[in-house]
Amino acid sequence: MKSKTATVHFNAAGTPVANDYDDVYFSNDSGIDETRHVFIAGNDLPARWQACEQRSFVIAETGFGTGLNFLVAMQAFQTFRHANPDHPLQHLYFISLEKFPLCRDDMSRALSAFPALQEQARTLDAQYPVAMHGCHRLEFADASVTLDLWMGDAHELLPSWACPSAGLIDAWFLDGFAPSKNPDMWTDALFDQMARLTKVGGSFATFTAAGVVKRGLAASGFTITKRKGFGRKRDMLTGQFTPETEPVREPQPPYSPYTLPTLDTGDHVVIVGAGLAGACCAQMLCEKGIKVTLLEQGQAPAGGASGNPQGGFYPQLHGEASHASQLQAHSFLYARRHYDTLTDAYPVAHDFCGVLQLGFNAASQNRHEKLIAAQLWPETLVTLTDAESTSALAGVPLPFPALSIALGGWLSPPDLIAAMLQSANKTGLLTCLYDTQVREVTETQHNVELVCTNGRHFRGDHLILAPGHQAISLPAFAPVPLRPVRGQVEAVPTTPVLGKLKQVLCHKGYLTPALNGRHALGSTYVKQDTDTSPRQQESAANLTTHQQALSGCDWITSLQHDGQARAAVRLGVPDHQPLCGALGEIDKQRRLYSELQKGKPLSMMPLPTATRISTLTALGSRGLTTAPLMAQTLTSALLGAPLPLPAHLLHAINPNRFIIRDCIRGRQDTR
Ligand code: SAM
Repeated sequence: MKSKTATVHFNAAGTPVANDYDDVYFSNDSGIDETRHVFIAGNDLPARWQACEQRSFVIAETGFGTGLNFLVAMQAFQTFRHANPDHPLQHLYFISLEKFPLCRDDMSRALSAFPALQEQARTLDAQYPVAMHGCHRLEFADASVTLDLWMGDAHELLPSWACPSAGLIDAWFLDGFAPSKNPDMWTDALFDQMARLTKVGGSFATFTAAGVVKRGLAASGFTITKRKGFGRKRDMLTGQFTPETEPVREPQPPYSPYTLPTLDTGDHVVIVGAGLAGACCAQMLCEKGIKVTLLEQGQAPAGGASGNPQGGFYPQLHGEASHASQLQAHSFLYARRHYDTLTDAYPVAHDFCGVLQLGFNAASQNRHEKLIAAQLWPETLVTLTDAESTSALAGVPLPFPALSIALGGWLSPPDLIAAMLQSANKTGLLTCLYDTQVREVTETQHNVELVCTNGRHFRGDHLILAPGHQAISLPAFAPVPLRPVRGQVEAVPTTPVLGKLKQVLCHKGYLTPALNGRHALGSTYVKQDTDTSPRQQESAANLTTHQQALSGCDWITSLQHDGQARAAVRLGVPDHQPLCGALGEIDKQRRLYSELQKGKPLSMMPLPTATRISTLTALGSRGLTTAPLMAQTLTSALLGAPLPLPAHLLHAINPNRFIIRDCIRGRQDTR
C-alpha cells in the first residue's frame, strides 16, 4: 500500500530530473508555457469549456509528477469560471496517475520556479497526500476543482476505473516521460484503456510525436493531428476519439455504480436519516447544485449512533492490504481532509491529538508488530512506539507499546453533523424535516414517491436511505443480513491524572481526553438489542473492560462512573463493510443472478437495471472514519462523476453483494 517515492535531482536550469528515467519533468525552457502550449491549447480547453453543456469536465493525466500540469489547468479553469460564473459548466475533475509520487519537498522546490502559480501551489501543498497506493481525492472548493491523485502504475489502475456507458474522460494529458525513456507506459494496453474510458469526441494531447504513440492511438480509435511542438521540439500530437462504432464500455459485473440514473443541476434527492451518513450526502449533493430534502424520524439530527458527544477517529489497519484495510486507510485520510475544512469553518468540538492503539497484551502486541513488519503503511499513517514514548504521547503513565496514529484524534459527531447541514444550508438547497418517518416507498419510471407517518408525501428524482439501524424495518433491505448492535458509552468525570490524558487510547475499549470535564469511555456491544436506555450493568462492564486491559496502570483504579452514559444502536453487516450504492429490486436481482447457481462466472452476469433508490448505511462503529469517503463515492456515482475508489473496493461495498453471495451459495447447495 505504500508507494515508492521518486528519486530526483535538479539540473543546472533548476528543472527536476527523474534519476530512474533520466528525463526531465518539464521543459528546461519554461515548464508553464510548455503546459499551456501542449496540454491546454493542445486539448483546445478554454474554447471547449465555453461550448460545453455538461455540468462537469473530466481531464485525465498519465504522470502527475510535480503537479505543474494540474495547477495550470486549475488556474485556467478558475479564469474561465470567473469570466463565466453562470455557465452550465461548474466543475473540473482532474484525474492523474502517478507510479512514483514526488516527496513534498521536491514538489515544493520544483513548483517554486513558477511564481504565477504560487497561490494554486500553496493549496496543493496544504493537501498533498502521503505516498500510499490508491486514489486520493483532494477538493479545491474555491476553484470548483476536484483532483483524484491515483498512486500506482497506470496499467494496473486504469482497468479498475468504473466508467459510465457514455464514457468518462473529456481530455487526456499524456505526459509520462519520453517513450524512448519509458517504453513500458506507452503501450497498446494504455491506448485500449483510453478508448474504454474516453467520451466520443473527447481529446488527447501529448508532447511527443513518437511513432509508437501515433500508431497505437490511431489503432484505438483516435484521429491524430501533428502540431508544432513546444520550444525546440519540432512536433507534438493531438487528436479526438472518433471510433467507427460506439465502444462497448466493458462494465465490471456484477456491479456498476453508474446504473443509478444520473442527477442534473436542479434535480431533487430525498435522504432518509439525519446521522453522519445522511448529513454527509446532503452536504455533498447541495454543494453540487442538487436540491435535498432530509427526512428524520427523530426530533433533531444526530439522534442515533452519531449522537455521542465524542467519537474516536482513526483507521482500523491490518497487516495485509485487505479490502477492509484499504477502505479504512483511504476513508481515514479523506475524512481528515474533509473534517479539516469543516472544523476551520464551523464550531466543531474536536482535537486531532493522535490515537494510541495499545498493545495491552501479548496478542495485541504481536498483531501490532506484524502490522509494522509488513511495511504496508506509510509512517505518516501509523508507527510503533515503545512504552516510554507511549506514556509521553499519552500524558499519563502507560506500560505498553502502541500503534501511534498521529493524524487521528476525536471529534463531536453531533457538531460535525450540524456543520455539514449548515454548509448544505448555505446553498439554499436543503430542507430538513424532523419527526417524519417513512412508511411507504414507491419507485416509478421517473421518480420516487414516499408516504410518511404524518401523512406527508414527498417526491424526488432519487432516494438515499441512510436510516442507521432503522433499516431493519425497511423492505428494501430484506436480503441484507443486518446486524444491529447496542453500544453504551460512559461520560466519566475526569480525575487529576486522567485530566492529563492527551491522546485517545484504544484497546478492547476506548477512552478519550476530556471534553467539558468528562471523558468518553466505551463501549459495550450487545448484539440484536435495540433498546437505548442506559444500563447500570453496562456502565460497570465498560469500567471493568478498562480496568482489566489497563491493569498495569495505577490511575485506572481511580476512574468512576456516575451513571452519565448514552446508549445507541449501530448497524453492521457480517463482513463489516459499509453498504454504499444502488439498492436493486430484490426479485429482479435474484432472477438476474440465478445463473450463478449453474456455475456461470460473476464476470458474465448482466448488470442490474437502473434504480432510483440507493443507500449509505451499516457504518457500524466506524462512521466517523468511513462516512465522508462513502458519501463522496455515492454522490459522485449519482452525478455521473469519476469515483474515488477502484472497482474491487466498489464491489466490496456494493449493497447487493449479499444477494450475489446467496445465489452463489445456492449453487453450492445444489451440488
Ligand atoms: N505532468 C507532470 C508535471 O506536471 O509535473 C510531469 C510528468 S513527468 C514527465 C512523468 C511522470 O509519469 C513521472 O512522475 C513518472 O513517475 C510518471 N510515470 C511514468 N510511468 C508511469 C506509469 N506506468 N504509471 C503512472 N505514472 C507513471
